[in-house]
Amino acid sequence: MSKTLLAVLAHPDDESFGMGGTLALYARRGVDVYLVCGTRGEVGEMDDKYMRGFNTIAERREAELRCAAENLGLKGVYFLDYRDSGMPGSPDNQHPKALVAQPLETVAANVSHYIRLVKPQVVITFDPIGGYRHPDHIAIHQATVRAFEQAGDPPYNPNDLEAYKPQKLYYHVMPHALLRVAIRLMPLMGRDPRHIGVNKDIDLVSIAEVNFPTHARIDYRPVAKIRDEASACHASQGGGMMGGPVLTQFRRWFASNETYMRAYPEPQRGMRLEHDLFDGVVEK
Ligand SMILES: [Zn+2]
Repeated sequence: MSKTLLAVLAHPDDESFGMGGTLALYARRGVDVYLVCGTRGEVGEMDDKYMRGFNTIAERREAELRCAAENLGLKGVYFLDYRDSGMPGSPDNQHPKALVAQPLETVAANVSHYIRLVKPQVVITFDPIGGYRHPDHIAIHQATVRAFEQAGDPPYNPNDLEAYKPQKLYYHVMPHALLRVAIRLMPLMGRDPRHIGVNKDIDLVSIAEVNFPTHARIDYRPVAKIRDEASACHASQGGGMMGGPVLTQFRRWFASNETYMRAYPEPQRGMRLEHDLFDGVVEK
């Protein structure tokens, strides 16, 4: 059976920093892995040294994503062509092309098109709080949930491609044990876990308070090096070193897995932890 996995995400780097191990692992196992990316990450500041040879931030970040995609072994990357939004309150969110300014139905129809095009059995996206409450992540989560529900319905967008319904939907969830360790370690290193990231607008403490269930855990140790290489492609975004080198090393030693909440099929009470997102997938 040929297997296809589709990740629907918001920015260049989301594919490597959050679930790069999973994507690389399945690609290496011969699964066709595709990425739909909502924006080119065009908003924000970038050190001049990263702009050499590029006209715009979007060009630079697209190049970083292509580099990561090659490392991860992705079969295809599609852009939804929206514009990156900022954190809540940012003026960028008012831009007419901003992802968060689009009606949910429009983005969902766009995602549904790619579900019908690549026909994945398994779809992955962000959790309902978008990992760390980034508005673009939340918008992509909502659009993907809607698209997953509707892509298989022939009357939905009948002029688009033939209806196709994937079999499983997962949300990537933050590694909670690692988060809690980070929150304890960061003050010791003089850093405030309530204000992290390039713009100091990510609050790890509030994120750690939300505890989504883990239904699948993917051990990516066989491809840990590939994940790191893909992350390193995103040099303008810190190359996956959010939290600094100490935490990055800690993650490599203790947390070489990525965790997912299963949204569909709805988990049964007492279901056993899955170690393969394709568990139970059947040929159709
Ligand atoms: Zn992102």
